[in-house]
Amino acid sequence: MEIKGPRGTKDITILDSYKWQYIEDRIREITRLYGYKEMRTPIFEHTELFLRGVGDTTDIVQKEMYTFEDKGGRSITLRPEGTAGAIRSYIESGLAQGPQPVKMYYLSAPVFRYENPQAGRLREHHQFGIEALGSDDPSVDAEAISLAYNLINGIGVTKVTLNINSIGCRKCRPLYNKALREYYEDKKDRLCKNCLERLERNPLRLLDCKEEGCKVLRTDAPKITDYICEDCREHFESVQNYLSLAGIPYEIDPLIVRGLDYYTKTVFEIVTSEIGAQGTVCGGGRYDGLVSELGGPEYSGMGFGMGIERLLLVLEASGGVIPEPDPIKVFICTMGEEARKKAFFLVDELRKKGVSSDMDHIVRSMKAQFKFANKTGAEYTLSIGDNELSTGKASLKKMDDGTTREVALADIDSWF
Ligand code: ATP
Ligand code: MG
Repeated sequence: MEIKGPRGTKDITILDSYKWQYIEDRIREITRLYGYKEMRTPIFEHTELFLRGVGDTTDIVQKEMYTFEDKGGRSITLRPEGTAGAIRSYIESGLAQGPQPVKMYYLSAPVFRYENPQAGRLREHHQFGIEALGSDDPSVDAEAISLAYNLINGIGVTKVTLNINSIGCRKCRPLYNKALREYYEDKKDRLCKNCLERLERNPLRLLDCKEEGCKVLRTDAPKITDYICEDCREHFESVQNYLSLAGIPYEIDPLIVRGLDYYTKTVFEIVTSEIGAQGTVCGGGRYDGLVSELGGPEYSGMGFGMGIERLLLVLEASGGVIPEPDPIKVFICTMGEEARKKAFFLVDELRKKGVSSDMDHIVRSMKAQFKFANKTGAEYTLSIGDNELSTGKASLKKMDDGTTREVALADIDSWF
């Protein structure tokens, strides 16, 4: 019986991996330009890390985590997002004690969430993300946003919008929470079960609920931007000024709150209407209490997560083309056992000289070998049989125009 991959997973096969590599190359380029360095953390962590680091009023913790007990009886969770592990590592490795800010990124990190699989929503997806730790300066916020925006634009995605918001801090959030509680007081019967609980514990989260009934109610809810304190207002204005300096267009959306409990001040999303309902390509924000919550110093952080699958979807939808990888330079077709030995020697020589090359590995007819070489897009073919072995010369054929040229088998340097 054929065994299928689990629901909500998607293979990246040899037909698609070049697209991922292309995006990863762009990511490596841009992070280098911005002074971010790569970090890698385990795919699983102690469940406790995400309970504290993501927050137990979030969708992720309440509904979506892959949690299990390992053979030692520990509660383990597959990474449902990148920030908590990144910060644990920043603290544990001692980076939090060194010079600040620390600017890190992770690349195509597998992320697991038990969600309803649909277009743009998987149970295993991959994220590029950054974290800038140890500074609460608004320039850090604008830099992170600009990195995300310029990456997306730079790979040819055009139809995206950047939405930003400030969700205040520990000082001003209670005022806004109070306003939200008052607003929802006479609407409780129309809220979902989770939101009823959120209303008690973290009312801000009501704005992020995906239930239709709750979404309708939030349109007229009080706006955070009317409640934030002077500090937060100045910070937010400064972020906007920096964005303008970098020539980045944005819109303010007072309803964005983002998925983690620990966000403070700046939050942002880069969205598109080109790929259906799952249109958020990138989301992130500032988290000023998270490092200390996880046992580190009172440092703040700023970061985002970007879904690679969604990035590829929106790239395709906006007509962006990713260059296909170069095919094999030369494929050697052979007739007879001696010729195969010669071909094996020659491809080895060619590869050592940095020329990609291949030969028949199925022992099929000359004609079938040519056909295969043609299908795989080889730039040249070289044919070797008894005749070529005795003269030491063979015909090198350029596949796109069919022209041939005689070359000496002993002198591969003269071939190209
Ligand atoms: P959404 O609102 O779509 O559920 P989210 O707020 O849960 O997104 P984040 O936790 O901020 O998203 O994750 C960062 C990015 O990862 C998203 O903007 C999106 O591009 C991608 N992403 C999140 N969940 C999934 C998923 N289940 N499948 C594919 N990509 C995802
Ligand atoms: Mg989600």
